[in-house]
Amino acid sequence: MDHPTPPSPSEGVKKYIDRANQMLAVRQRDIASARKRRFDTIAVHGLYTATEAIEKNQGAIIEPVFASSGQAYRDSDEMEAAQTGQIPTWAYIRIHNPTLGYLEDTLALLEGYGIDADVGCVVYSSGMAAIENLSDTLLVRQGNDPINFVAQCQIYGGTFQQFNVRKMQERGIEVRWILDPNNIDEWRSKIDKHTRFLYGELPSNPGLVFFDLAKPVALAHEHGLPFVADSTIATPALMRPIAYGADIVIHSVTKTMSSSGTGTAGAVIARKPIVTNLPNDRMKADFCAYLRDYPHRDQGGCLHPFQALSTIGDLRTLRTRIDVWSQSALKVAQFLKKQPGVSDVNYLGLEDHPLYPVASKYLWLVDAEHDDRYGKRVNRYGHLLSFRVKNGPAAARKVFDRLQLIMRVTDLGRVKSIATIPSISTHLQQGEESRKMAHIPPDLVRLSVGAEHPDDIISDLEQALTAAK
Ligand SMILES: *Cc1c(COP(=O)(O)O)cnc(C)c1O
Repeated sequence: MDHPTPPSPSEGVKKYIDRANQMLAVRQRDIASARKRRFDTIAVHGLYTATEAIEKNQGAIIEPVFASSGQAYRDSDEMEAAQTGQIPTWAYIRIHNPTLGYLEDTLALLEGYGIDADVGCVVYSSGMAAIENLSDTLLVRQGNDPINFVAQCQIYGGTFQQFNVRKMQERGIEVRWILDPNNIDEWRSKIDKHTRFLYGELPSNPGLVFFDLAKPVALAHEHGLPFVADSTIATPALMRPIAYGADIVIHSVTKTMSSSGTGTAGAVIARKPIVTNLPNDRMKADFCAYLRDYPHRDQGGCLHPFQALSTIGDLRTLRTRIDVWSQSALKVAQFLKKQPGVSDVNYLGLEDHPLYPVASKYLWLVDAEHDDRYGKRVNRYGHLLSFRVKNGPAAARKVFDRLQLIMRVTDLGRVKSIATIPSISTHLQQGEESRKMAHIPPDLVRLSVGAEHPDDIISDLEQALTAAK
């Protein structure tokens, strides 16, 4: 089983446990200090303190990359204390690594920012690995009972396939799709005693669907179930789902958080404890520690420390990036709205978007009230938008093909503006019927606005739309 009972420690092992307890007390103090700081300060420093730099890392001001496959122990007592889980250890690079720890600390602090809850994080090699590991853990078999989970159908194409094909078609675990996540009765009608969790993605990729998160969260909790939110597009700079009661937050850290785009990364971030109907006290008490100690180490979806450092670097500027990119995206959306060749502009920041009111309840630029430029709470709606091109899919491809500055890429959240046609890329595999269910027409272009000057992004779109006529 996963839970070996530690033996009563020998004197030698006890020495290491005492030492670890002192280090853990320092860590708790560091967490408490960090939690008093503002978002930008946490994003820059995480828990990598001057003491950590000087005493453990030769004074390096930047978090070191521990490019090492394993951890050496002083003696057999330390090895025993570590391997029996009685002291913190990283042991082996598949299980953990100090550089990953720095990234996890920062992500947990940012996603738990301003929230009176204890929050944990475990990072993965990709967003899909994070979703797979977390969902498989919640979908563990208990006897022969059927198992189901309930998910919004407007989700990232890879997640859709993982749920629909890998879990439902190949393994008989039923996914019950929600067509309108703002219809609480629809969520309610899908839950029964075999349901394990509720899942939503907001804003959704690529349709920018948004819903009143607190409602299905409350419903999940009425049924003793956790709510899982994919918050990749919002990032904690705009919304922290745990503040609204969500138990578990998922990130494709690959995207907006790692805007330089050097590789993939994923994260599961969870409050402690989570709500669950599974009889597993360890898992419930600290979901992320449980994932790291058990399923994650056996499944091997580990992140490389080089990529962790790249992400740590990008995260330091998350709030200001999201602020500027959101403002650029709004300008681009307003421009597109006026174009005769464009039929629908999905951007939650457009006041006539049907989901503008509900998105405005949740999407706030963190700390705007403490920023001299604003001095009050300010809504921001992120860098992602999508639009339809009139006259069908062929016309959409023509416009798309004429883009010069904006690159044609199956990706988002980059420092460079990029675009894709979801029906032939990110959401190709799920097939036409599933795309129809999720409202992803073939003439839809998804645009991820980057850090260029918005005038240049707009003139690229303008020439592509004009030339294509
Ligand atoms: C890209 C994406 C994922 C998958 O993440 P990877 O890091 O590419 O594995 C999950 N959710 C959303 C919303 C995404 O955009």
